Amino acid sequence: MYRYSRAIYRDLHPLLLEGAIRPEVGRRLLLAACERTIERLARDHRRFARPEAALFGDVRSLFPVSRQLRVFTIIEAHLGAAVGYLDQEIAERGSADLLRCRATNRKGKACQRVPVTGSDFCPSHRYLENVRSSHTDDLLTA
Ligand SMILES: [Zn+2]
Repeated sequence: MYRYSRAIYRDLHPLLLEGAIRPEVGRRLLLAACERTIERLARDHRRFARPEAALFGDVRSLFPVSRQLRVFTIIEAHLGAAVGYLDQEIAERGSADLLRCRATNRKGKACQRVPVTGSDFCPSHRYLENVRSSHTDDLLTA
């Protein structure tokens, strides 16, 4: 699922407002908002009405007014694709519960985060899986 939040982030971060806040702060807020939205969508997209409006509301202040229509259009396109993917995944696998990380947290409860695409684990627990090429995980540090 994170490929959708990454795709939104990749398309949007060049449009961020310059000069108002430090660039790395703007990028961090944007990526965090994208990931929150995708995680909520993956948990229960059928009860998440208008996710594109929610994410746009969260991030619009990071963009100049002149770019906001473009920002909304980008968000809408990627979240539409994410919802399509979830519908397909649920149809094929029977349940959205399968879209949860397989790890347990320190308290012994099931991790509630969303697995990285192609993995059974979320970014925090991915070390539990055999090593595979995961250099795309670290967008912010790249
Ligand atoms: Zn996890």
